[in-house]
Amino acid sequence: MSIGGMLVDLSGVLYVGDKALPGAHEALLRLREMDRPFRFVTNTSRQCRAEVMGRLHRMGLGVEPHEILTAPLAGRRWIEARGLRPHLLIHPELLPDFVGMETSPSNAVFMGDAGETFAYGNLNAAFRVLQTGAPLIAVARNRYFQESDGLSLDLGAFVAALEFAARTEAVIVGKPSAEFYMAAVESMGLSPPEVLMVGDDLEADVLGALDAGLQAALVRTGKYRSSDEAGLKGARATVFDNISELLEKVMK
Ligand SMILES: [Mg+2]
Repeated sequence: MSIGGMLVDLSGVLYVGDKALPGAHEALLRLREMDRPFRFVTNTSRQCRAEVMGRLHRMGLGVEPHEILTAPLAGRRWIEARGLRPHLLIHPELLPDFVGMETSPSNAVFMGDAGETFAYGNLNAAFRVLQTGAPLIAVARNRYFQESDGLSLDLGAFVAALEFAARTEAVIVGKPSAEFYMAAVESMGLSPPEVLMVGDDLEADVLGALDAGLQAALVRTGKYRSSDEAGLKGARATVFDNISELLEKVMK
């Protein structure tokens, strides 16, 4: 296959928790040596973009601001483009990405992975805003993510809870939304078929990218489980042990 550029997921591909995965540093060097553009695309919403970058730097994985596209900031652009004032159901550490946003009186609900902040009172406050007919906008619908001590519950279950209670359907602004993938592809001046998306999440990374017209590869790191390969069901995606193997085999 011919590849004009790459989109690379972060958590589960370059690192898990606070630790770089084996081969991550070499993979980043290799990405930089390619004469093709790349972007990191993440649905992570427990940290603001500055902190995502800070963590990468602390792991020795230096990334430039223009190289990283986050789902929460895509959400902010989506909301601002429509002039909405969102009730924010987000992790306290994500707040820096939403500084200066008008939030009241709220006529929308924006939710990320709020972690411990998903307490009853906070979910109920969001539910009450939705009861006024306000739209629900969510970073993602991810089921779980890999932490250093195992899989952890992600945002998707909480999105489903509010959708159920408020009889609404969330707008997803991160992966696998086609709008998010298009913005990432266009930031490199490419078209979807020229771009390979690499990730450890079968649904958001691989099937989502294929639906948006990109090429896709699944890596056997992070949240990957062997049962994911059955989920590919003949989809035109390739599977690699890790990002290093992918770069070695694909980016010659
Ligand atoms: Mg991931």
